[in-house]
Amino acid sequence: MLNLEHTYFELPQPFYTHINPHALPKKKWVLYNEELEFALFPKTLSPKERLELCSGTLKECEGHIFAQAYAGHQFGNFTMLGDGRTAVLGEFLHQGQRYDLQLKGSGTTPYSRRGDGSATLSAMLREYMMSEAMHHLGIPTSRSLGILLTGEPVQREKTHPGAVLTRIMKSHIRIGTFEYARYFLDIESLDALLNYSVKRHYPQLVDSTNKIEEFILSVAKAQFQLVAHWMSVGFVHGVMNTDNTSISGETFDYGPCAFINQFKRNACFSSIDLQGRYAYDQQGLIVQWNLTRLTETLLPLIDKHEEKALKKGQEIVQQFQGLWQEEYYSTMVRKIGFQQKSEASKILIDQFLLLLEKEKVDFTLGFSNLCRTINDDDFCLQSSPMKRWMDAWTIELARQGINQEAAELTMRNANPARVPRNKFVEELLEECEKQEGIGTAFHLFLEAIREPYQASEKYDKMLKPPDGDFDLHYKTFCGT
Ligand code: AMP
Ligand code: MG
Repeated sequence: MLNLEHTYFELPQPFYTHINPHALPKKKWVLYNEELEFALFPKTLSPKERLELCSGTLKECEGHIFAQAYAGHQFGNFTMLGDGRTAVLGEFLHQGQRYDLQLKGSGTTPYSRRGDGSATLSAMLREYMMSEAMHHLGIPTSRSLGILLTGEPVQREKTHPGAVLTRIMKSHIRIGTFEYARYFLDIESLDALLNYSVKRHYPQLVDSTNKIEEFILSVAKAQFQLVAHWMSVGFVHGVMNTDNTSISGETFDYGPCAFINQFKRNACFSSIDLQGRYAYDQQGLIVQWNLTRLTETLLPLIDKHEEKALKKGQEIVQQFQGLWQEEYYSTMVRKIGFQQKSEASKILIDQFLLLLEKEKVDFTLGFSNLCRTINDDDFCLQSSPMKRWMDAWTIELARQGINQEAAELTMRNANPARVPRNKFVEELLEECEKQEGIGTAFHLFLEAIREPYQASEKYDKMLKPPDGDFDLHYKTFCGT
């Protein structure tokens, strides 16, 4: 027994629908994250329990599995959504932190619309690879516990093996859940969702007299920290719709996401994002846009008088830009050795990014080589603008009393030596789909992402930048 809990049922009934995941008579293991189980679960599961958990047939889950209802702005358009192919099995506590256990690709639900409720093996393996890599980079994220082959084909642009992923997250409440309550339910339901979310994610605010504003600003801070962290490792989420923006501040729904190789500030890899709405350098603005939608949903709870509520809402929203800039620069200046941001260090990081782009340097290598160059003179960029930048940088570090050792330490902790490279990821996934499973190369990848801030000849070589301009033509597909 895992003794799963179901506090989500404290919410009014329209927030969920009980479902049964599709039966999987032909299921087969692809992989299981034993280490994650050991780290989080109160007990070690038997092989039978693991299989039952990841196929949604654990006896104790019977009658309690559900799909969540939510809405959301997708590429700016508001629509009703809900879990179309996912199922929450229940919750568990670990060191006072509550987690959801959820299946993805487990069959249709009342919210499936025209979708088939299924997921392809390559898409689930991709989510596994990306989420585990993000975790080891120190970025809040959903985690991947295991993948089963369903034994059923899934039709996309071609036929793929079908798979179910089991994932773990602090909760799957999203801005879209608030939009659903506000625009499809009533004010009591909205209030219930607010109180449930505060209790679950921001319990320090339970008795606050200024709960709503503090809640919005807490979600904003968590999201700003998250997105700044993404940008600091060159990550592009690719589909930052409000239904993919979590209240807990965790990364989730790894669809068309990718890591930048050669730096390009408007890098955008999603095949459907024709306008670049979710491009690398738009992410700070988009998360503010999403948080503005969250604020709108809460206006009726802020004040009964519409005008007063609107005024207060505007005051809240007006704080976003400043808070975002604060988080962005505080995170980014660490990449060039400053513990704290200052006007000078902000200018230096802006200039360095400009140079990386202009000189077509790999984002990850550009920063990790800069870190090495503090000790030896072997930096890959020897152009005169870069040398001038380095002179200004060294002078500023000295002016702030930051010695070489301190700067190097800060940089080592902020600049990964390697990230999952798009080309490598795609080639590996293609191989796994052909084999309908994983092999040595996949396990090597999982090893390579474990300590990404530690240089390693073997792993750095394996995850080296692609030759030429691979990114220029690289596209990722979502809904797979
Ligand atoms: P996503 O882009 O993964 O965040 O999904 C957006 C919405 O589409 C969510 O409501 C999903 O549950 C739903 N969805 C995505 N793929 C499928 C599918 N294959 N079958 C049913 N619903 C899906
Ligand atoms: Mg989603």
